[in-house]
Amino acid sequence: MAPALEEPVQMDLAAPVKNTPKLVAPEPEHCPGPESNLAGKGDACAGCPNQTICATTPKGPDPDIPLITARLAAIKHKILVLSGKGGVGKSTFTTMLAHAYAADPENMVGIMDTDICGPSIPKMMGVESETIHISNAGWSPVWVADNLGVMSVQFMLPNRDDAVIWRGPKKNGLIKQFLRDVEWGELDYLIVDTPPGTSDEHLSVNSFLKESGVDGAVIVTTPQEVSLLDVRKEIDFCRKAGIEVLGVVENMSGFVCPTCTHRNKVFKATTGGAKKLARETQVPYLGAVPLDPRIGMACDYGESFFDNFPDSPACVALRKIVQKVAQAAGMEENDVK
Ligand code: SF4
Repeated sequence: MAPALEEPVQMDLAAPVKNTPKLVAPEPEHCPGPESNLAGKGDACAGCPNQTICATTPKGPDPDIPLITARLAAIKHKILVLSGKGGVGKSTFTTMLAHAYAADPENMVGIMDTDICGPSIPKMMGVESETIHISNAGWSPVWVADNLGVMSVQFMLPNRDDAVIWRGPKKNGLIKQFLRDVEWGELDYLIVDTPPGTSDEHLSVNSFLKESGVDGAVIVTTPQEVSLLDVRKEIDFCRKAGIEVLGVVENMSGFVCPTCTHRNKVFKATTGGAKKLARETQVPYLGAVPLDPRIGMACDYGESFFDNFPDSPACVALRKIVQKVAQAAGMEENDVK
């Protein structure tokens, strides 16, 4: 049975984090956080309509975290894919990374799409019209191939054009449910696609996965300064949140004509691009993936660019990046094909 968005999901989302109080009014600007030890007692709480609720809600660690840790114990590597800005090809990179790992039939790979408001992974993976199933073991991911599974909020929407207009606690509740209730089984890699920026979803994923261990984050950018600006913030966010930065990837780095292989700089790296930024911020530079119009087409048709054009410059670059990500995550070179 496929779960409808408003049925089991909403039931749990009513109390997404057991220690999160149900507020009667939005948090004011200087709110210390309804889950913090100061909730209901801080200076900013004076006069807040939520004061009694926040002050009396029991504090303490989230009791679901041990359940999430147990559920994910059979997943060897968990990799976040982040970007400071939207439109840099983060989800496309996620799908290519997943296809690259899944190219080795011995690898079991999963993608978790935590972009609740703009899920695009199912379309890119060619499983947009699928729904998920619930069994006694939990929610089953949608399997794109024998060794490649996907979980996304898109599967729960009755209509693919429906907007998901949720505030933070509700989004966090769904992410928690993904982590706690999806039956991934034994995986070599779980690749977590996140929305752009440094929002609730990133903090949720990190806090829920902390105990079970995240290998780190790959940050995707384009060469222009306007994108790099936000990457600096993303790196700062990772450092503050205790997430290891596995490295930075420069996507859309030049255009290689598929016909004559001539290379053009479409987005100029006016300030030195991702390579210079990586040096300045002392994070690994993983490489550059050139633009290729066939990547966009492969995503629109839900096909694997990685499988269809293995000799293209983008795939050759990606293969090297996959190796570097795997090494940064502590794998032996021979573990990755
Ligand atoms: S009472 Fe305090 S912690 Fe609770 S919502 Fe108001 S300001 Fe935030």
